[in-house]
Amino acid sequence: MYSLAQHKLTPNFHHQICKNQPPLHLSQVYCSTTTSRSKPKPNAKSLVIESRPIQVLSTTITTNNQLSPMLSDPSLQSTWSHRAWVATGCTTLLISLGESIKGAMDLNMWVEPILAGWIGYILADLGSGIYHWAIDNYGDGSTPIVGPQIEAFQGHHKWPWTITKRQFANNLHALARAVTFAVLPIALVWHDPILEGFVGVCSGCIMFSQQFHAWAHGTKSRLPPLVVALQDAGVLVSRSQHGAHHRPPYNNNYCIVSGVWNEFLDKHKVFEAMEMVLYFKTGVRPRSWSEPASEWLEEIQTPSQVQAQAQAQ
Ligand SMILES: [Zn+2]
Ligand SMILES: [Zn+2]
Repeated sequence: MYSLAQHKLTPNFHHQICKNQPPLHLSQVYCSTTTSRSKPKPNAKSLVIESRPIQVLSTTITTNNQLSPMLSDPSLQSTWSHRAWVATGCTTLLISLGESIKGAMDLNMWVEPILAGWIGYILADLGSGIYHWAIDNYGDGSTPIVGPQIEAFQGHHKWPWTITKRQFANNLHALARAVTFAVLPIALVWHDPILEGFVGVCSGCIMFSQQFHAWAHGTKSRLPPLVVALQDAGVLVSRSQHGAHHRPPYNNNYCIVSGVWNEFLDKHKVFEAMEMVLYFKTGVRPRSWSEPASEWLEEIQTPSQVQAQAQAQ
């Protein structure tokens, strides 16, 4: 239903790891205070700057310190194959929605197809959340079929901002391909306006969910005003809601179409309940139980910061 291989870094990309570069050092800033009265300390309020080595930010520096490959890497660019799949997916959606409108006109029946489309929009958000939860928490790169998507989501948690640099067709092609295979037969065979209305809107929301997701990582000043208005109105998943997904404890706000299901699912701990059931049935622990979830810690440096740091060394 929902296939995302966009964030996976190409082998070539990994091979650009700065073989000759020492590990980067990031600075962490802590503000520490004490309320002890018995042993007052001269620097009770102190700013402690601690430098510690962390994992090499291997994907942002080339061996010759050129512009970060994060921005120039071909894995972020659209290919003609990507564009062709997006065009095919959009054609599929137009056929499905066109069939729905044609059937509605022939039967003079509008309420039911519109209602079906609205239900499709609501359920697409739920589907995006369930799928996102599943691949965030279970399996790995070797998992059949969805392995690349699991790796991709791990990469997205590490470098969330790269999604804003990814070109449109590059970001959507995997979903467009899935929609084409799943929906085109339905669109061509069934001519029920209600079914076509549901399928067309639901699959359309799923196909474009990666674009909604990318917008949720954008900044308000750089997003189109209409997108900001739709986010603020709750039609599209909001920046604040999805931002919470990228902060500890990394186990909430999984839905990325409208986000309308997030509050309900998180308030009632639906995913936590599903994790418990799976754990007692299979013994498999979800990734979100791991503390700390180091693989989900975001590398906060931007390419320009890394490049500047590399040149200073
Ligand atoms: Zn996630
Ligand atoms: Zn995200």
